Amino acid sequence: MTTTDVTVIGAGLAGTEAAWQLAQRGLQVTLWEMRPVVQTEAHLTDRFAELVCSNSLGSTRLDRALGLLKEEMRRLGSMIIHCADRTALPAGGALAVDRYAFSQLVTDSVSAHPNIHIVRGEITDIPAGLTIIASGPLTSDALSRRIGEMTGQTHLHFFDALAPIVTLESITMPPAWRQSRYDRDSGESEGDYVNCPLDREQYEAFVAAVRAAERMELRSFEQDDEAERFFEGCLPIEVLAGRGDKALAFGPMRPVGLRDPRTGRRPHAVVQLRQDNQAGTLYNLVGFQTNLKWPEQRRILRMIPGLEQAEFVRLGQMHRNTFVNSPLLLEPSLQLRSRRDLFLAGQIIGSEGYVGSAAGGLLAGINAARLAAGEEPAVMPQESMLGALMHYVTSADPRYFQPMKANFGLLPPLTENVRNKGDRYQEYANRGLEALAGAMDAYGLAPVALPVS
Ligand SMILES: Cc1cc2nc3c(=O)[nH]c(=O)nc-3n(C[C@H](O)[C@H](O)[C@H](O)COP(=O)(O)OP(=O)(O)OC[C@H]3O[C@@H](n4cnc5c(N)ncnc54)[C@H](O)[C@@H]3O)c2cc1C
Repeated sequence: MTTTDVTVIGAGLAGTEAAWQLAQRGLQVTLWEMRPVVQTEAHLTDRFAELVCSNSLGSTRLDRALGLLKEEMRRLGSMIIHCADRTALPAGGALAVDRYAFSQLVTDSVSAHPNIHIVRGEITDIPAGLTIIASGPLTSDALSRRIGEMTGQTHLHFFDALAPIVTLESITMPPAWRQSRYDRDSGESEGDYVNCPLDREQYEAFVAAVRAAERMELRSFEQDDEAERFFEGCLPIEVLAGRGDKALAFGPMRPVGLRDPRTGRRPHAVVQLRQDNQAGTLYNLVGFQTNLKWPEQRRILRMIPGLEQAEFVRLGQMHRNTFVNSPLLLEPSLQLRSRRDLFLAGQIIGSEGYVGSAAGGLLAGINAARLAAGEEPAVMPQESMLGALMHYVTSADPRYFQPMKANFGLLPPLTENVRNKGDRYQEYANRGLEALAGAMDAYGLAPVALPVS
């Protein structure tokens, strides 16, 4: 019988990537996958790295955040990006894949690897020894409970109704202005919140539009009692709007304690936006969780004065989502602070999306191998998209922590002011790839060989 050097839990996007990175560095990996013995609410097959919804891994362009992240992963030798490239479909500027061919290629590559030993079954406890937990947003209940006990978090299951996030530079000021309610700022004279004012007419038109808008259908697993109970404390705007004309004005859109500097008066209603990242480039719409269809969200939220030109880096959505409060628990190397031989990766750490999840698996796999070899785990530079994303999820404000997709707002600002957005994003990409190359040199990181297919 072969001994195990590393246990990886979950053969999804993150877990298979981590297992490949480890195995190619000569470690013996035991990879646990509970499907098909135990199914999740969203997966349909027993294949690894199944794409549960869209078949797109986002833009291929370097001047787009997901394009840059994928290129960085290619340079680090990502097995997942390689398999996606090999099964790509024509899709303009996006990397869309044949989802069946993609997950079959991942399954075949991982299953055929002599250093990877697959166990089909549910893990209900956290193993001793070098381990990577990559069990995803639909982590089984028993394992979620154990992770919760170990990390001191009472519950990790969220029935998410996420609020949209916009870039600060796309908010028009005025009419938007900075102020905290009753001027209760945290010390910054400018005001911690950005406020968008609505007069009565604008408010009524907004409420009518929200009520009439098309909603996303909830899947059956998302309609259970627990979800409803949770949402009572975190109601989507469309549910509130349906409860009465004034419900939003007395809820997330209440204007108390605020004064529009243009009129000197309190507006009829207000949408408040709160800073969402350390760099202060992203702002979320406070209390604006929603399950409206995405084109509807874009259309209706742009009715809000100040948000006519809003650039959305995340739109609202609802689904079961298991994630830990990573800023409290994890190092940027993805090691648990309280147990250095335990790594977490994938959507469970809040790096949102297929590519963000695989990116975490890539880093955790590299770092678990480095730890096994007695080397210092790698921390990726914040100028790279990989480093910026991992830095965000491990250092965001734990009070408001929510999963985050790769986006340019996470990167440190450029030292020079580049006015044209396209040029600026290209500059971010150049700087990111250069920073990644520097880190690969410094850590002596060479990309591993990829599956032959
Ligand atoms: C309903 C839904 C729709 C989504 N749609 C999209 C989308 O369209 N685009 C996008 O970019 N992202 C989407 N996401 C977010 C995210 O990108 C995906 O969920 C992604 O698959 C996460 O990768 P992962 O590796 O973290 O988890 P997964 O790919 O889910 O892999 C985790 C694996 O762990 C296994 N597992 C769980 N518990 C155990 C256990 N106890 N023992 C053994 N195995 C276990 C699971 O069976 C699963 O195979 C969606 C998420 C959900 C829930």
